Amino acid sequence: MDCVVAVDVGGTTIKGGLVARDGTILHFERRDTPRGADRVIAAISAFVADLSRPRPGLRPVAVGLAVPGLVTPTHAVFAAAFGWRDVPVSSFTDVDLPVALGHDVRSAGEAELAYGAGGDDVLFLPIGTGIAGAVVLSGSLYGGAGGWAGQIGHTPVRPDGLACGCGQRGCLAAYASGGAIAARYRSGAVGDAVRNGSGAAAGDAVRHDSGATARDVVRLAAEGDVRAAEVWSSAVDALALALATYTLLLDPARIVIGGGVSLAGDALLVPLRERLAGRLAFRRPPEVVASSLGVDAGLLGAGLLGWRSAS
Ligand SMILES: [Zn+2]
Repeated sequence: MDCVVAVDVGGTTIKGGLVARDGTILHFERRDTPRGADRVIAAISAFVADLSRPRPGLRPVAVGLAVPGLVTPTHAVFAAAFGWRDVPVSSFTDVDLPVALGHDVRSAGEAELAYGAGGDDVLFLPIGTGIAGAVVLSGSLYGGAGGWAGQIGHTPVRPDGLACGCGQRGCLAAYASGGAIAARYRSGAVGDAVRNGSGAAAGDAVRHDSGATARDVVRLAAEGDVRAAEVWSSAVDALALALATYTLLLDPARIVIGGGVSLAGDALLVPLRERLAGRLAFRRPPEVVASSLGVDAGLLGAGLLGWRSAS
C-alpha cells in the first residue's frame, strides 16, 4: 500500500508516522524535540530516514514535513522555539522522495477541513505548548501578506500584561497556552502580580506541584484546588476575549479548538462558550467545538502535505 511519511515538529515532541491517502495513520512514533536548531534539524532528518525504511506492505511515496513559525514551501524561515533561520527544505532530509514543507498549524487546519470539522469560515485553534491559528475565509486558508496570519496566540489580551516568549507583553499565549497554564500554576502566580515568570509573588510562600502540566491544572481545578481554578479561569477569560475580537473582525461560523488543551473537553468548552457569548452584545457567538481529530490533526496535516507532493 502506498503511504506518505508525515512528520509534525512541535516544541516538545516530534510526531512521525505513515499516513494513507484516506487519512488512516498506519504507523506512529513520537520522539522528544532536542534543544538547539542544529540538533532539531538532525533529529528530523534521522526520523524521516527511519520512517522511510521499507516495511512489509507499506511503500512510502513522499514526505510531508510540518514545522512551526514562518514557513514557505522552500524554507523554514524562522521559528522562535528552535532559533533557526532560513533552513532550506533539503536540510531536513536526504531520502530520495519528494518532500513538501508546510506550516504546522495551517496544515493541521487543512486536515481538520479534510477529515474533521469543516466549514467555509472557520478558525482552527490548536492550543498546545503555544497557541496559533489557521484562518479559513470563504473556504480558503488565509496566510496573509507575509505568511504571518493566524498568530492569535500573540494578540494582546491584557495591556502591559505578562511577558510572552515572543517579546511582547500581555499575549493570549502568556495566559492560555498549555505551557503558560502549567507555568503559572507551578509558580503560584495568578493575575498580573508576577511578571517575567520570575516566581511566586511576595508573601506567597506556597509553591505548587513542580511537575504539574496543564492537564493536571484542569483536573486540580475540577477537584477544588483554588489556585488551579484561578489559573484555569484566567486562561478561559483570555481565550474568550481573543475569540470575541476574532469573531467581531471575521465572523466565523465555527471555532474548532485542537491541541492538548482541547482534551479538557467540557471543562474548557462550557465556560468558554458562556464567556464568549457574554462578551458579544449584539450578535450571536459562533459555534465553539473541540477538534474531532484531537492531537492527530498535526500529523494528518503533514500527511496531506506529503500527498500533495506525491501526486
Ligand atoms: Zn506573544
